[in-house]
Amino acid sequence: MSTPHCTAVIDLGALASNVALIKSKVNGPEVMAVVKADGYGHGLIPSARAAVAGGATWLATALLSEAIALREAGVRERVLTWLNTFDDRFMECVSRDIDLAVNSVESARAIANAAYNVDCRARVHVKVDTGLGRNGVTFDDLDELILELQKQSENLEVVGVMSHFAYADEPTNPTIAKQIQVFKDSVDKLEAAGFELEVKHLSNSAATMGLPDTYFNLVRPGVAMYGVTPGDQVGTAASLGITPVMTLKSNIALLKNVPAGTGLSYAHAYYTKEDTTVALIPAGYSDGVPRAASNKGPVLVGGEKRLVAGRVCMDQFVLDVGGLNVKLGDEVVLFGDPAKGHPSVEEWAAAADTIGYEIITRIGPRVVRDYINSPF
Ligand SMILES: *Cc1c(COP(=O)(O)O)cnc(C)c1O
Repeated sequence: MSTPHCTAVIDLGALASNVALIKSKVNGPEVMAVVKADGYGHGLIPSARAAVAGGATWLATALLSEAIALREAGVRERVLTWLNTFDDRFMECVSRDIDLAVNSVESARAIANAAYNVDCRARVHVKVDTGLGRNGVTFDDLDELILELQKQSENLEVVGVMSHFAYADEPTNPTIAKQIQVFKDSVDKLEAAGFELEVKHLSNSAATMGLPDTYFNLVRPGVAMYGVTPGDQVGTAASLGITPVMTLKSNIALLKNVPAGTGLSYAHAYYTKEDTTVALIPAGYSDGVPRAASNKGPVLVGGEKRLVAGRVCMDQFVLDVGGLNVKLGDEVVLFGDPAKGHPSVEEWAAAADTIGYEIITRIGPRVVRDYINSPF
């Protein structure tokens, strides 16, 4: 047996606990666990099952293909998917009992047509653009969509209304109150049109962790379930009570002594200040170690945090381990749980000038996923 070059340890027990914490925090509303993008890089199916073990009663994906994959793995919970193309796999979704978002007259027609073809009634959630300026029908166009939904009622059952925030990670941003108001007006309009809305959902992680006015009867967290903060104004993972689910680790593949003034790695972006020992770490940007964090990303090695020395390359980077007691094969941790002394995803995000979401979702396909503490 050999050691993998780079491993993402996924603590499914922590994922389930994070969901349970969110569920007790919102105290009443159901939890729709967002498992898009391969469970934010943690694995679609294991993440979905751990979220259900933690109390989620709904699952959500962006793409229809991801929702279909959940059903094909035998997941039976309610599933919603919201990012369809104009000619997407609607028939496969409707026949697999997957809820779909409707964002336009055209999508209402396409979904109704698919439902007619498979002889089912499709369950749809009206996706309203309450101010994000991205997906969803504008409030101004909602009347026209309602007329179409009424016309297609034999094939479409409107069960929900949803929207998404532009600024939920800035809890005092004035757009939040405006979006809540447009959302409430949309609910009123849909209910006045005779639709019985089973679920009304607006809260992503940031809203779920800090804005109770946004809960309605279902919350839709993603990143927080994975123990990563939705933004630095919302608090640290520890202050929110959530535990990081992913630990990214590697091992020292080579140690060598070099003199002071040695340039390390491409373009010699780092020079050793004194005679020292350098360690080669076999993980690079193709594994999700951001190149933008060259000379900046923190790594736990020999009991200390050291910054990447020089460029992050495709498959490897170097650490200056001068003064540390390390040997070939020793484990190094790029990020994980700060409570265990690991650097955090958030520190890597800051080093790479990005957000934690991008760090966890870009872990490459050749990184071995090691699932631990499974609650199912
Ligand atoms: C990704 C996404 C979410 C989850 O967002 P987080 O910030 O990860 O909690 C919720 N709703 C929609 C529409 C999304 O696209």
